[in-house]
Amino acid sequence: MNPEVIVIGGGLVGSAVAYGLARRGLSVVVLDEGDVAYRASRGNFGLVWVQSKGFGAPEYQRWTRLSSDRWPEFASQLESETGINCGHERPGGITICLTEDELAARRKLMEQLRVESGTTPFEYKILQHEALKELLPAIGPQVVGASYTPYDGHANPLYLLRALHAALAKHQGRYIPNARVSSIRPSAGNFAVTAGGQRFSAPKIVLASGLGNKELASHVSLNVPVDPVRGQIIVTERVQPVLAMPTLTIRQTVEGTIMIGESREEAGFDDATSPTIIKRLAERAVRTFPFLKDVRVVRTWAALRVMSPDGFPIYEQSRQYPGAFVCTCHSGVTLAAVHATHYARYVAEGALPVDLQRFSSARFDVQASA
Ligand SMILES: Cc1cc2nc3c(=O)[nH]c(=O)nc-3n(C[C@H](O)[C@H](O)[C@H](O)COP(=O)(O)OP(=O)(O)OC[C@H]3O[C@@H](n4cnc5c(N)ncnc54)[C@H](O)[C@@H]3O)c2cc1C
Repeated sequence: MNPEVIVIGGGLVGSAVAYGLARRGLSVVVLDEGDVAYRASRGNFGLVWVQSKGFGAPEYQRWTRLSSDRWPEFASQLESETGINCGHERPGGITICLTEDELAARRKLMEQLRVESGTTPFEYKILQHEALKELLPAIGPQVVGASYTPYDGHANPLYLLRALHAALAKHQGRYIPNARVSSIRPSAGNFAVTAGGQRFSAPKIVLASGLGNKELASHVSLNVPVDPVRGQIIVTERVQPVLAMPTLTIRQTVEGTIMIGESREEAGFDDATSPTIIKRLAERAVRTFPFLKDVRVVRTWAALRVMSPDGFPIYEQSRQYPGAFVCTCHSGVTLAAVHATHYARYVAEGALPVDLQRFSSARFDVQASA
């Protein structure tokens, strides 16, 4: 049976949208390439983060905030439907500053977010060392201060992905692995999709294949100029609860491990770790929380972010081939809640709202100079 919607890509973005569509009663098939693909969803840091999102783009700040506000309900809905706890917590979040210059720059950025938030209140605090020590007693003497907002949190991204897949199945959605989409042929009101030697067709498709979107977009006259940005992460052995809230680069998981991350590197499609970067991450982590020097590292890895030229999501419906949508972003954990609720609803209804126009790829069109 042909579904009402084909979602291409079964990472956090595609799975969230597919789950949201299936929950609304639509028949959905997810076509996913498989383990050979680049998969940011299996290698990320797990923050549900607001305080560094949307500088100069208040629409992105609002969208991120909406998702963070929706996350508690989203997580408990997933748990009640699947029994899987994604480990979501929202205790607020911290961005650590190790120098006065870093703290001054941080203050400026937070004030910019507050001003740009317009009528949506945006609360933040700049904490000096002593005040921060009350929230995070483990900080070292080299920490000058930090920014804090109550909107930030974190989750276990692997449990999230597992929960989304389980919830999709529960709502009769089908996930098909080893199904790399090689062609999409649009015709009147229909898309014929070839994947892993099989053929599928549906009146709607959602491109949610991460870095794969760049190539697939051209099949339906969309422009999705995403490129990889590498990030490296260190994970330690489990320790007693010591960090009551996540920081931008160091967090304690519900299981007790400490995650230290994450770099931002232009390294093409090279997803290997490098000792120089890992050393730099570890050194800063020990300056921030000196107890870490006695904690054993159990794993390091690298993964590739799905990054647009300005770092904001790309949401669009093809003008030439209505029914073909793209959904891509570099904060798939943070935005999972709005992808499963709002974005899925827009796809079901067949139109993206004016609010999301800011995220169309038209912003990358180069104006010819006079
Ligand atoms: C180091 C690092 C840290 C990060 N930290 C955070 C964080 O703290 N918080 C946060 O919100 N986000 C974070 N992110 C970003 C987050 O991981 C991504 O935004 C999210 O995983 C993107 O999900 P996706 O589904 O778009 O892409 P992916 O996870 O890459 O999935 C794409 C899927 O599409 C499939 N695919 C590709 N091509 C095809 C094709 N032709 N046919 C069929 N299927 C195809 C692949 O098999 C894959 O499963 C981080 C990313 C990295 C790399």
